[in-house]
Amino acid sequence: MISFESYNFAGKRAIIRVDFNVPFDENMKVTDDTRIMGALPTIKKVLSDGGSVILMSHLGRPKQGPEDKFSLRHIIPTLESSLGKPVKFAGDCIGSDAVQLSSSLKKGEVLLLENLRFYKEEEAGNEGFAQKLSTLADVYVNDAFGTAHRAHASTTIIAKFFPHNKMFGLLVESELAGLDKVLHNPQKPYTAVLGGAKVSTKITIIENLLDRVDNLIIGGAMMFTFIKANGGKIGASMVEDDKLDMALAILAKAKAKGVKILLPVDVVIADSFSNDAKTRIVKSNEIPDGWLGLDIGTETISAFSAIIDGSKTILWNGPMGVFEMSNFALGTKEVAKAMAKATAKGAFSLVGGGDSVAAINQLGLANEVSYVSTGGGALLEYLENGDLPGIKAVRE
Ligand code: AMP
Repeated sequence: MISFESYNFAGKRAIIRVDFNVPFDENMKVTDDTRIMGALPTIKKVLSDGGSVILMSHLGRPKQGPEDKFSLRHIIPTLESSLGKPVKFAGDCIGSDAVQLSSSLKKGEVLLLENLRFYKEEEAGNEGFAQKLSTLADVYVNDAFGTAHRAHASTTIIAKFFPHNKMFGLLVESELAGLDKVLHNPQKPYTAVLGGAKVSTKITIIENLLDRVDNLIIGGAMMFTFIKANGGKIGASMVEDDKLDMALAILAKAKAKGVKILLPVDVVIADSFSNDAKTRIVKSNEIPDGWLGLDIGTETISAFSAIIDGSKTILWNGPMGVFEMSNFALGTKEVAKAMAKATAKGAFSLVGGGDSVAAINQLGLANEVSYVSTGGGALLEYLENGDLPGIKAVRE
């Protein structure tokens, strides 16, 4: 494996797969530049070595070919001001223009390629398309962890055209370092906190975690599938009725492996799915008909916080309730605070997945946990398999 940090980019053109899939307002102004800022250290290292940079990314989900609202040219002003230098732009990511622009790049210059997904070959992982991209540069750098679980042309397939000149950028390197701490030899007790909408999307990770963790905390809507499976009354709460058997199987497996599963004992219920709904706190298995459980209750918060407090490794994915509505955000907030507190006492804490990251940012606690992972699907898949197509392609 080539180490990005020790590689000398002088005189080299590096094609960097970044994640510039950023949100825009109605005037196509970037509203959150976190991802652009995140890529800067990697870009700057290449430039300061005396190399040049070709940036490639996807943006949104264009259906058929080029569409202005998915054009990466809209990020140029933000990119130029964060880099403090002009950025050249190839309006087609492959073809004669891109070839001409990339071959005339001078040291210290940056070229941005148009949205890769304007070609269906990108997501199809087409080899010919990957080969065309590869001809633009001397070195391939993958710095987009969030798409590393996809075997797309720019995230995976392209690596084979750089057998001796492929590496991870600083973002991916730090992401892997964080994840490897929870994957390999985590300090015990190890607690996983899972929440969010559905059990079905997280089955494999739950099963995988049962081999590793001491405690598994379950909150969010997925709790109701477990509570109903145990014979509880869940009112009109969100549930996956076709996953009840699976929930029982998970509980049995946990017991057999000596993993403690913590389900909420009380919940905040509402008479409608609205922040203005009437609310009450009841036992989690005694929800009246017509009411919905939308957050964990106060007793549960204390129980979960105590377990988190006593843990040395904590992994968190998925909110404890409908945290987007202020009246159902307390459980998620308190779990985030408990994680921050445990971290201050020396625990390693990792937060991952879009919603939990949004929650931790909203609370201003992102700097008080050990690691905030950018990858949602990629993170879960890495924790499940210990590998991802885009990671393997560079490591091989
Ligand atoms: P996920 O993408 O699976 O992590 O799910 C995140 C979503 O789960 C968020 O939008 C939450 O609002 C939602 N969620 C969490 N708890 C509940 C609940 N008790 N009822 C309905 N939705 C919930």
